[in-house]
This record gives sequence, C-alpha cells and structure tokens, in this order.
Amino acid sequence: MEETTFIMIKPDGVQRRLVAPIIARFENRGLTLVAIKMVNTSEALIDQHYAELVNKPFYPGLKQYMLSGPVIAMVWKGKAAAALGRAIVGATNPKESAPGTIRGDFCNDVGRNVIHASDSVESAKREIALWFKPEELVHYVPCDLGWVY
Ligand code: ADP
Ligand code: MG
Repeated sequence: MEETTFIMIKPDGVQRRLVAPIIARFENRGLTLVAIKMVNTSEALIDQHYAELVNKPFYPGLKQYMLSGPVIAMVWKGKAAAALGRAIVGATNPKESAPGTIRGDFCNDVGRNVIHASDSVESAKREIALWFKPEELVHYVPCDLGWVY
C-alpha cells in the first residue's frame, strides 16, 4: 500500500510535450503523486542514477541524451507502485513495449524512450534518495483512495 517508486520523464518526453499525458496515465491507474520537480540534471547525478550501466557501450550516448535537456523527477505512491510503474511504462526496447504502455504508445528507439521507472522496490528506494530530499516528499491521504483499493 505504502510502496513508492521513482518515475522520471526524460528530456525527449519534456521536449515532445508529453508531460501531461504521461502524468495522466499514473493518476488514472490510481497511483498518488507525492513529489515532483523539474531538474536540469548533471553528469554526476546521471552517473549515480545509472551506476549499473556506466561500463556499457551505449552509456556515453545515454548520458548525452539524459543531459540534453531538463527532466521531470517524480515519486508515485500506491499498491505495488514499483511493479505497476514498470507495467505502465512498458519494456525498455520499443520493439517489445506493448501498445497501451507509455513506451509502446510514444517511442520507437531504445535511446529515446521518454521515461524511466524504477525496476524494483530496492531500486526505487535508492533512486528516490538520490533525486529527492526526504522533506520534498509530501505525504497525504488522497480522498478517492477507498474507491481505488
Ligand atoms: P529501463 O529504463 O527499462 O530500466 P535499463 O535500465 O536496461 O532499462 O537501461 C536504462 C536506459 O538505458 C534505457 O531506458 C535506455 O534509455 C538506455 N538503454 C538501454 N539499453 C540500451 C541500448 N542497447 N542502446 C541504447 N540505449 C539503451
Ligand atoms: Mg533500469
């Protein structure tokens, strides 16, 4: 119930004016927005965020992409938020992202896949701590919760 996940609209999502349609998908699914900010990110932050990938051959391109414009960093809360976030976002590779997912509806290139979602509860904890100060998370009880769960 109280699970949280880290979701980030990448620079192409912001430039393509997909912020509102992307946020709507998380709201429509019954997740609750508990933190949001626009960030002009930095090399150090991207290196930490993608620490597992820094040695991959595509990493320089990924880093350049992530630094190419502002991102929208968010924390969403709700039942199974991490797994649900991945399901809403869709598969990494657009060839495999199902229609109806964000990537399946808005992307056709793994290197321009508009959105990030934490891949587990553990990753979510690490990423939320990396991108947000604890006081930036706003906890409240949404009035419709009894109708969603
Ligand atoms: P996900 O974002 O679905 O969790 P990964 O953690 O595996 O996927 O990779 C992080 C990001 O790195 C992807 O979203 C994508 O932007 C980029 N990426 C992954 N694999 C490739 C690749 N083969 N070529 C280019 N970029 C890639
Ligand atoms: Mg990942």
